[in-house]
Amino acid sequence: MYDVIIVGGGVAGAASAALLARQGLRTLVCDRTRLPAPAVSTHFFGPSVLGFLDRLGVLGEVLATGAPPLRRWHLEIGGGYYGGPMLPRTAYPYNLCVRRETLSAILLRSAARDGAEIRERCSVRSLEWDGDTVIGVAGDGWREKAHVVVGADGRGSLVSRQVKAAATFDAGVLRCTFHAYWRDVAPLPAPALELWHEGEYLLQVGPCDGDQWVVMLSAPAQNFRELRGTGKQGEDGGAYERTLLAIPSMAARLRTAARTSPVYGSGQLRNCHRHPAGPGWRLAGDAYCHKDPLFGAGIADSFQTAQALADTLPPAVAGDIDSTTAERAYASALDDRVGQRLREGLDGLRIDPPEPGQLAWIRGTLAHPALALEMAQHCSELFAGLPPDRREFWQQVADRTAEVLGLPPAARVGAETADPPGAGVRA
Ligand SMILES: Cc1cc2nc3c(=O)[nH]c(=O)nc-3n(C[C@H](O)[C@H](O)[C@H](O)COP(=O)(O)OP(=O)(O)OC[C@H]3O[C@@H](n4cnc5c(N)ncnc54)[C@H](O)[C@@H]3O)c2cc1C
Repeated sequence: MYDVIIVGGGVAGAASAALLARQGLRTLVCDRTRLPAPAVSTHFFGPSVLGFLDRLGVLGEVLATGAPPLRRWHLEIGGGYYGGPMLPRTAYPYNLCVRRETLSAILLRSAARDGAEIRERCSVRSLEWDGDTVIGVAGDGWREKAHVVVGADGRGSLVSRQVKAAATFDAGVLRCTFHAYWRDVAPLPAPALELWHEGEYLLQVGPCDGDQWVVMLSAPAQNFRELRGTGKQGEDGGAYERTLLAIPSMAARLRTAARTSPVYGSGQLRNCHRHPAGPGWRLAGDAYCHKDPLFGAGIADSFQTAQALADTLPPAVAGDIDSTTAERAYASALDDRVGQRLREGLDGLRIDPPEPGQLAWIRGTLAHPALALEMAQHCSELFAGLPPDRREFWQQVADRTAEVLGLPPAARVGAETADPPGAGVRA
């Protein structure tokens, strides 16, 4: 009998196992594939994930993978670009791009060191029930029991289907992505988190561990078939590569590069979350909340769910709080830390190509980093005399620009107790 069985050894399952085993819970992880498993992803993560890894004591191991710390932004829009440092707003003012199998391996080793049992190539086929309470899992010719079963089994979660977890939010599929690994991409003078905005496309480029680069193309969902080309999953790479090479500055970066992987196409990127807790079961990571990769938050959110499990499960297993209270505490923590951000962030995925006038303005701003900084922090003030709806628009532009450039929050027009520009520090 285990305290907790975790179905899935991806980042959500591995991080949950690491935290729960450290608290002394008898923990079993079952994954249907060989671990660590690769995942289709762009792999970027920033300060909140770095802080989590540091608290777990594995940040040194992650940095030793060779993935260069990305301490700068590189933003390209319609031929203009901005390059600047990430401001030291936190103790970890950089991003990393570490392939998922590398990251999961480090987390699984940490879990195993603290006593978690890891079983790979071990598919869970069904849940075991006592009335309406989940009491274990079963596979082909085996079964195991536990106080709680955690479904960390990804976006197609079998656990969520078998417990009939209610959909609590679903905004559908808004965008699709194609990505591949490359080597010998012409580097920038210093490694940066690169974002490219070209018409209706968004691109992310980053150097990761193993001397590889990941190049991701995000497009509106309706472009999926066309970009997929003739390959079943876009493996022929034709449309993906043609789209990249049609951007002159990207073509220059890829001139000496070679693609080292198939092109992975993802056309079913729903933006949704489900009810995450019930008698004897919990959902974590993508099984709870799946979102478009442009949020760049899948890993951070997986760690949030792991942390919420670590905060609420041990007292429930020990009988210090009743199970209904523990379920509610978990559901409420997830909604605060993950669900709300998904609901509020969806507007950021509706990317309209800039109009010619806007493009000229953006190009001008990006060509002058000092002006970009001024605009990001003061443009809402500059437009203070406008009618409220236009002022709100410019406030959003200022907030978004500050966020994208990694700058302190923009000044808030009309706020009675507003801090002076630049005084705020984002969490
Ligand atoms: C194209 C793309 C790009 C992305 N880019 C980023 C990014 O840059 N930054 C970021 O933070 N996030 C990104 N994400 C999101 C991120 O990859 C996911 O949020 C994250 O991988 C979720 O981890 P998970 O452990 O919940 O699920 P998964 O990684 O899917 O792991 C689930 C595990 O469960 C196992 N499993 C499933 N069913 C069973 C079963 N029945 N029995 C046993 N085992 C089972 C699977 O084998 C798998 O190992 C991206 C996603 C995509 C699709």
